Amino acid sequence: MRFVSTAGQAPAVDFATALREGLAPDGGLYLPDALPSYPERFFRELRPDMAAIGTELLRPFHDGIPDHAAAQLIREAFDFDVPLMRLEEDLYVLELFHGPTLAFKDVAARLLARLLGWLCRREDRLLTVLVATSGDTGSAVAQAFHRVPGSRVVVLYPAGRVSSLQEKLFATLTGNVRSLAVDGSFDDCQRLARAALQDTELRARVLLTSANSINVGRLLPQMTYYAHGFAQLPPAAPPVVFAVPSGNFGNLTAGLLVHRMGLPVARFVAGNNVNDAVTRYLENGVFAPRPAVLTISNAMDVGDPSNFARVQALYGGDLGALRRDVLASRHDDTETRHAIRDVYRRTGYLFDPHTAVAYLALRRAFDREPGDRTGVVLATAHPVKFREEIEPLIGRAIPMPERLARFLEQPVCSRPMAADLGALRSFLLAWDS
Ligand SMILES: *Cc1c(COP(=O)(O)O)cnc(C)c1O
Repeated sequence: MRFVSTAGQAPAVDFATALREGLAPDGGLYLPDALPSYPERFFRELRPDMAAIGTELLRPFHDGIPDHAAAQLIREAFDFDVPLMRLEEDLYVLELFHGPTLAFKDVAARLLARLLGWLCRREDRLLTVLVATSGDTGSAVAQAFHRVPGSRVVVLYPAGRVSSLQEKLFATLTGNVRSLAVDGSFDDCQRLARAALQDTELRARVLLTSANSINVGRLLPQMTYYAHGFAQLPPAAPPVVFAVPSGNFGNLTAGLLVHRMGLPVARFVAGNNVNDAVTRYLENGVFAPRPAVLTISNAMDVGDPSNFARVQALYGGDLGALRRDVLASRHDDTETRHAIRDVYRRTGYLFDPHTAVAYLALRRAFDREPGDRTGVVLATAHPVKFREEIEPLIGRAIPMPERLARFLEQPVCSRPMAADLGALRSFLLAWDS
């Protein structure tokens, strides 16, 4: 399997190169050049086992990694539950948030970390992952690579500008993880990471990567939970509609890929907050990115979704075909708060703000197109991560999961650093682990 750039100006590459480079040299995003296809029966006969399903679905893609090694990496990565909860007669929630940082990005980041670690070990090289974070990405990436042989992680974060819960989730890690509290803003951290990645002299001495969210190695693993959710539905359930809380649209794109491979899905529904570039595109056919606006579903505050290029490539720019597969709608913070409170009162189930946006989009879609359907809302974060927002809405405290409580007791061991490439270079060159 080769990987081609959505921008069409770069040579096709193998799996290892696509993973290591992340972004194609022409600025495009990698996609597989062909997709295998499976009969509907294949998906109907799956047992709900994330590792087994992932092994099966990813086998055509990981050329260069033997099947038995890949199966082992997948088993290590997908070591937490992804349960399907029944909420109402026709409505389920697929909980993707039982990984180490209580957010769905754990699923893909954990597998990418292990795939990259394996590829580097084979070449007897040590990979250094640089990640700039305003809070959540740093913890997902640091936790994903923590203790993965062949890799180490440097997290750059703005000192004093991330929540203490967020900081605890990465800055308490040691071993192959280091956290640098940068004297500056998140933009300064991003600038530093980018400058280091472009520093050819530094890169000749340290094998650097960013393992960021546009990496195709983070996209493909996400196909697994769609099939896993499907496998947990009753056999006679009406056609399934997946509702996806969307920001950069990686999650939705993975769904479209596995659907293209044969997973029976009646519709995808994308939930946007007021950062609604894709919703507007589906309405009027014009893709008009805007600067991001802050909302309570802040991981979806994306003005110019990067995976839009992949969606366009998959559909060859055919808006009609895309509209047949995807409905989208926008929901503001007031609606989102109302949905969280309303669903909690009626059912006792608590959505985080991102998941609530997808729930609203699903309800809107069912109103627009009545029929016999099964809705599956992808739940992307545990509500406790947004307890400042949610607790006042429901008037009670959200219990802290044990996993998280353990981190809160650990000491933060980041070191301060000036917002300066020289300082980062010296740190990277001096770190021998
Ligand atoms: C990243 C994130 C999203 C958005 O996912 P995309 O793949 O960027 O569309 C939604 N919810 C949560 C909690 C996230 O962290």
